[in-house]
Parts: sequence; structure tokens; C-alpha cells
Amino acid sequence: MHVTLNHYTPLVVCANAIRTCWQSFDKSDNGGEKDRELIDRVGNKFKHASTLEHLSYNFYIKGVSRALLQELARHRMASLSVKSTRYTLKELKDEEPFKTSDIKRASKYLVLTQIALVDEMSIKALENLRQVLFAGISNDRAKYCLPESYKTELTWSCNARSLQNFISLRSDKAALWEIRDLACQLY
Ligand SMILES: Cc1cc2nc3c(=O)[nH]c(=O)nc-3n(C[C@H](O)[C@H](O)[C@H](O)COP(=O)(O)OP(=O)(O)OC[C@H]3O[C@@H](n4cnc5c(N)ncnc54)[C@H](O)[C@@H]3O)c2cc1C
Repeated sequence: MHVTLNHYTPLVVCANAIRTCWQSFDKSDNGGEKDRELIDRVGNKFKHASTLEHLSYNFYIKGVSRALLQELARHRMASLSVKSTRYTLKELKDEEPFKTSDIKRASKYLVLTQIALVDEMSIKALENLRQVLFAGISNDRAKYCLPESYKTELTWSCNARSLQNFISLRSDKAALWEIRDLACQLY
């Protein structure tokens, strides 16, 4: 997986939002150490967490499975724009048939697990999908035989409060290994 932070709100925006409450703008150090300490104290320690919503982060997330995507999509306090299978499945049409030994070629399309039996079955599912597309079935119908391991990519935007919630839930050892990796990378 590959995660890029494309855009983020400068910390001074959040610090000024907090300073609005006490009209203490003169104490701002433009997102420096004083402002950071203020954000941590008010937003985290005093649990005035709505102030953290003024900080927004925009990521590009690439090479994750659709299994991860359906878990990520459960986080309602975020915005997603996802690569459309309806419009992009044609990428498979021109591929040669996949053999179960074609790990490298298949990994362009699949998140592999390093569990040989699982990866073999994923590659078989990929080959099934290729055959369906090759037979001229529309993307709209062919997508119903996509394996969960099929790779996708998305733009994901989230505010700092929701990002904290995401990282705390998904970095836990109870979380799915792949989304745990994502949580670490986002952090
Ligand atoms: C280890 C693990 C296992 C899981 N297993 C399952 C499973 O088996 N089946 C399953 O369906 N899901 C499962 N989930 C998903 C989980 O139930 C949540 O849907 C997901 O983690 C999103 O969390 P969230 O609601 O806090 O996040 P968000 O949707 O981003 O919401 C953020 C916060 O906003 C508030 N909020 C949002 N919407 C509402 C609302 N309607 N009412 C009140 N407050 C709201 C809550 O405080 C919430 O914490 C699992 C999650 C984890 C981490």
C-alpha cells in the first residue's frame, strides 16, 4: 500500500478556533509550540474535541484491497472518492491468462497475503474475472465476481477528531492486519 498526504490544514487554524473562545489571539505563535500545546490541552486533555474538527487531512491511498475498503467505508466521519470498478475493469481485458504461479503479475491487481493457499485462490478468482471480461460481459455485471483481494485506490479526507478515532480503533491488534497497516501509515 502507498499513502500520500496531499493536503492538511495548518495548526494555527485550529489554535485560532480555540482562541476564539477566550479571545486570546494575541497569545498565538502562528502554529508553533504554544499553539500545539493549546490544541493538545484543549482538544485532547480537556476533551473539547470538536475544536479538532477544524483540522482536515486529505490522503491518496493506493494498493489496498476491497476487503479493507469496506471496513474503511464504515467510518462515516470521513469522505471517500474511490476508483470505480465499473469504469476501470477494462484494465484486465488485455492481460494474458493468469496461472497460480504468476504472483508478480497478479500482485498488480491483488493484495496478496503470503498465505500460499489464499493467494492461489485469489489468483484463480482474478483469472475467472479476466475470462468473464474477455467474454464481453459488461463491467457492471463482471464486478460481481471480483475477489475481496482486488486492489483499489481512493482519495480520503478526514478531520483530526475522526482521524484520532480511526487510528485508535484500527491500530489495535484486534483490527484487520491490512487496515492496521493503513492506520500506522496514516499516523
Ligand atoms: C476490531 C473491530 C471489529 C469490528 N467488527 C465489526 C463487525 O463484525 N461488524 C460490523 O458491522 N462492524 C464492525 N466493526 C466496525 C465498527 O462497528 C464501526 O462501524 C467502525 O469501526 C467505525 O467506527 P465509528 O462509528 O466510531 O466511526 P465513524 O462512523 O467515523 O463515527 C465517528 C464517531 O461519530 C459518532 N457517530 C457517528 N455516527 C453516529 C450515529 N449514528 N449515532 C451516534 N454517534 C455517531 C460516534 O461517536 C463515532 O465514534 C469493527 C470495528 C473494529 C475496530
